[in-house]
Amino acid sequence: MAVVKVSLIDALREHFGFDSFKGNQEIIIKSILSGKDTFVIMPTGGGKSLCYQLPALMSPGCALIVSPLIALMKNQVDLVRSYSSKDNVAHFLNSTLSKAQIKKVRTDLLSGKTKMLYVAPETLTKQENLDFFRELEISFIAVDEAHCISEWGHDFRPEYRRLKEMIEMINGDLPIIALTATATPKVQSDIVKNLALRNPEVFLSSFNRPNLYYEIRPKRKKDQTIREIVKFIHQHKGKSGIIYTLNRKTTEELADMLVANNIKAVAYHAGLDATTRAQRQDMFLHEEVEVIVATIAFGMGIDKPDVRFVIHYNIPKSLENYYQETGRAGRDGLEGICVCFYSYKDVQKLEHLMRDKPLSEREMGAQLINETVAYAESSACRRKVILHYFGEKYEDGQCNGACDNCRNPKEKIEVKNRVVIVLKA
Ligand code: ADP
Ligand code: MG
Ligand code: ZN
Repeated sequence: MAVVKVSLIDALREHFGFDSFKGNQEIIIKSILSGKDTFVIMPTGGGKSLCYQLPALMSPGCALIVSPLIALMKNQVDLVRSYSSKDNVAHFLNSTLSKAQIKKVRTDLLSGKTKMLYVAPETLTKQENLDFFRELEISFIAVDEAHCISEWGHDFRPEYRRLKEMIEMINGDLPIIALTATATPKVQSDIVKNLALRNPEVFLSSFNRPNLYYEIRPKRKKDQTIREIVKFIHQHKGKSGIIYTLNRKTTEELADMLVANNIKAVAYHAGLDATTRAQRQDMFLHEEVEVIVATIAFGMGIDKPDVRFVIHYNIPKSLENYYQETGRAGRDGLEGICVCFYSYKDVQKLEHLMRDKPLSEREMGAQLINETVAYAESSACRRKVILHYFGEKYEDGQCNGACDNCRNPKEKIEVKNRVVIVLKA
């Protein structure tokens, strides 16, 4: 890779108009520019994209960026283009492009004007693309959302497993940059192993989100829970929030109940057609509705900075999921309230969903569920439990009352009929 002539901060100003780096960005960028394999673990919203975008702009050739979702790719490319006056600085290559569009992308790539090419893993399975990339000057490969490689992650995608093999077919010497917001040690080692990272520089940021308040509420009868939710939303009138539920039907039911209670709400799930989904997502982003009631189909890549609450109507299937889903609150650094309703019945529902899966998957799933149950039933600081789960040191007292257990210490939690009854100290 070429010698860097301008200072990084000047390059940051020139290309993005920002005055300073966030968190570890600068040392990460230095590592990438030095041509080392680099592993970046940084929470959502931490600024991972810039870690590869700036080096891509500063290096000769074009960076290949692997991204799991077609919708995300387009957003990213639009964003990069908005910073630059040249539209051909970034492109994406996936199944949505017409023949003519593909031709244009290739022409720009060959002309050397394109510094970033976003690709889906599927793009790399096509031999003609691999042949084309082999002829191209490539600066490095960035694998975004690298946790998709691991079954222990919250969004496993089998195509990610073949990435290393395909990268080798392009050029085995290319530096690889893996990026993820998933910090569990199991997922990390899967990523390093599957991408065969060579003595990588690892940058692990803190996962603490000091502005999020975590709370578990015992879930009682359905209408009682809904009343509780309605009351909560009325107390946060005009604020944006997400409610996660386990299944599609519940999103519709709950959204209807909220609407009946004068709350502007819509449901969102993978059973809706793409147009409806896009419409409802926009309604939420543009604040035509206050609340979106969704399955986990909603959220990846959504960047609404002022989501003020995330309610889990059902307990999520892993603590990792919980962290990611609650992480959509308070992206702007201001208040974010995360309430999770917990009942053992919902745990059984999760177990039931796995009934037809192979044994190994059921075992893996059961372990993840057990960790979530332990979190819900714990009387320890929620933040401490979450951060420990990610292998991060966290002391009592650092939470500063930003969870239910710190705010109202409990002597013990008694489980009756597997429904948690909370005894106040
Ligand atoms: P991640 O991929 O880690 O979730 P993004 O790359 O999407 O995060 O960045 C989150 C937000 O932070 C974006 O709006 C981005 O423009 C902003 N951002 C990134 N780096 C900086 C910086 N150095 N200064 C100011 N804003 C930044
Ligand atoms: Mg990102
Ligand atoms: Zn706490």
